[in-house]
Parts: sequence; structure tokens; C-alpha cells
Amino acid sequence: MKQADFEVIIIGGSYSGLSAAMSLGRSLRNVLIIDNGEPCNQQTPHSHNFLTQDGSTPKDIYIKAKEQLQKYDTIQFLNDLAITGKRLGDLFEITTKNGKKISCQKLIFATGIKDLLPAIDGLAECWGISVIHCPYCHGYEFKNAKTAMITNGERAMHLTSLIKNLTDQLTILTNGPSDFNKDQLKKLKRNNISVIENKIEKVEHQNGYVENVYFGTHEPIAFQAIYAAVPFVQHTDILQSLGCQITEQGYISIDSFQRTTVNGVFACGDNSSPMRSVANAVAAGSLTGAMVNKELADASFL
Ligand SMILES: Cc1cc2nc3c(=O)[nH]c(=O)nc-3n(C[C@H](O)[C@H](O)[C@H](O)COP(=O)(O)OP(=O)(O)OC[C@H]3O[C@@H](n4cnc5c(N)ncnc54)[C@H](O)[C@@H]3O)c2cc1C
Repeated sequence: MKQADFEVIIIGGSYSGLSAAMSLGRSLRNVLIIDNGEPCNQQTPHSHNFLTQDGSTPKDIYIKAKEQLQKYDTIQFLNDLAITGKRLGDLFEITTKNGKKISCQKLIFATGIKDLLPAIDGLAECWGISVIHCPYCHGYEFKNAKTAMITNGERAMHLTSLIKNLTDQLTILTNGPSDFNKDQLKKLKRNNISVIENKIEKVEHQNGYVENVYFGTHEPIAFQAIYAAVPFVQHTDILQSLGCQITEQGYISIDSFQRTTVNGVFACGDNSSPMRSVANAVAAGSLTGAMVNKELADASFL
């Protein structure tokens, strides 16, 4: 039978992947991290709400983590894109864009998610700067600011309850017909939150900082921040080709030990959790590393 090239391959080498690698590398597991260097937060100037690193740049957190991992000769790095994956008996084989074929006993997906930003002129340039995905990460920096939320329906009600604590100048932009029922509309009115259904044409900004939102022939409105609840997809279809189940919300289905529905395959970070933060990604990665190590340890302790 073919020997695996590595005990563990981790696809995705950002916060969750590096964290999983740390637990594994320190357990003397022979680990390869394949990463193509496209973390979701790369445009944000400062990352917040992660102890000891509050306000650091995403890159500085990454560089420090990678430097610490490079001390472990058990961990190797490959700058490449994993494009296919298949089972080879008890092993998994991953192929990469640059033509490498590498096998492992256990596979971890730490691949993050791909945000699908609405096609609104100027929005992408502001993403992570003044267009915000999460109040815990950037809400404090925009407290009391004149704020819009591009969202609708039930999701908007959830977000509004969190954001209204940070500012009382809040407007919902549904960017088309609103999905609110009568009770929700009454609640929004009671809380002084207006709803604008006009189609958004563009976001005017200075270096990513929102200034005005334009709605075709209607008057533009000045805002300082916009929360955007955007849809997402998984980064890789290797998941599906291996048979990993995806939840209705689009996350990789995992149990409380970070195991996917396929034996030997694990997932951690944004790809399998709606609690989207560096702290949660690091925590999930650390747990994943420990769980993978335990499976390997149990299998060799006969
Ligand atoms: C704009 C923005 C700002 C944010 N700001 C904050 C903040 O201030 N504070 C905070 O705590 N959180 C913040 N977050 C959330 C935080 O960035 C994420 O929760 C965290 O990055 C998730 O880590 P991850 O490792 O799961 O995924 P990611 O960091 O997204 O990394 C996934 C990695 O996998 C790689 N990858 C994917 N597919 C493949 C493949 N097939 N082959 C090889 N490599 C692959 C990618 O290139 C990437 O390097 C922000 C998110 C966004 C979008």
C-alpha cells in the first residue's frame, strides 16, 4: 500500500489553518499547508476583537503566526492552489494548480469563504474599510456614525438589534422591494429606523471611506459606514467531490469535533461556522488540530 507523503494536509493557511498546524506540528505530526494567499480580510486596514492583536493589520497577525510555525520542522508550506482531491484507499490525494500530487492520511479544509458582493459601483473598494461585515469587528470604530445597512427581512432584524446599540443614526437599504412583515415594520418605526427600497446605483467614497450612496434619480444620502450582509460560496469544490455535506446555509457540515461527514476529513474556520472572526477561526483550528492528532494517535496505539 502507498505510504502517505504527509500525515496531514491542511488546505488553507490563514488563521484557522495555521492554528490547526500549530497543534499538529507540536504533536510531531508531519504536516503540509497548501495556501494561495487570499484571506477574506486582506483589504481591512485594522483587525479588531482578537486579544493581544486588537488593531493590528491582518497581514501582521498572519506574519507573526507564520514566523512562529516556521520554527517547527514538522510543518511545511506550499504556496499553491489545491484544485482536486480524491480518495486513494485509506489516503487522500490532492492535486494543485502547479501540477503537484500529494497524499495524506487526514485532510483539513481551512479554506474560508468567498463573499459575493452585490454589483454596486464603489462597494468592493470600501469592503472591510467602511463597508462592514460584522459589528464586533468594526462597529466600535463607527460608533454613533451615520450608518446604512444593506440587508432585508429577518436577517436585517437580527443585525439591527446589534447595530442600534452602536449608533442611533441607522437606515436600512433593501436595494429593491422590502421583505418586512407588518410587525417588523412597526418595530423598525418604533426604533426610529427608516427603510429605503430604492435600487442602489453607487457608493461614493474617498479611499474606501463611504461618503454618499446614490439611488439613480433619487437624492443621494450621506453615510459614514455601511453594514452589508452578503451571500457567500465555498472556495473549493474538492469538498463535494469527496462527498462532504454542506448545510442549507452553505457551511461545511461538521460535528463538535470538527469532523465533516467524510471519515478522515475535517474543517475549521469560516467555511464551517457563521461566527466569523479571527478569534473563532483560531479556536476552531486549534480544536481541529487536536482532534486530528487524537485520531492518528488512536490508530497507532494498538
Ligand atoms: C472584510 C473583512 C474584515 C474582517 N475584519 C475582522 C476583524 O476586524 N476582526 C476579526 O476578528 N475578524 C474579522 N474578519 C473575519 C476574519 O477575517 C475571518 O473570520 C478569518 O479570516 C477566517 O479565517 P479562515 O482561516 O477560516 O479563512 P481565511 O482567513 O479567509 O483564509 C482562507 C485561506 O484559505 C486559502 N484557500 C482557499 N481555498 C484554497 C485552495 N483551494 N487551495 C489553497 N488555498 C486555499 C485562501 O487563500 C486563504 O488564505 C473580517 C472578515 C472580512 C471579510
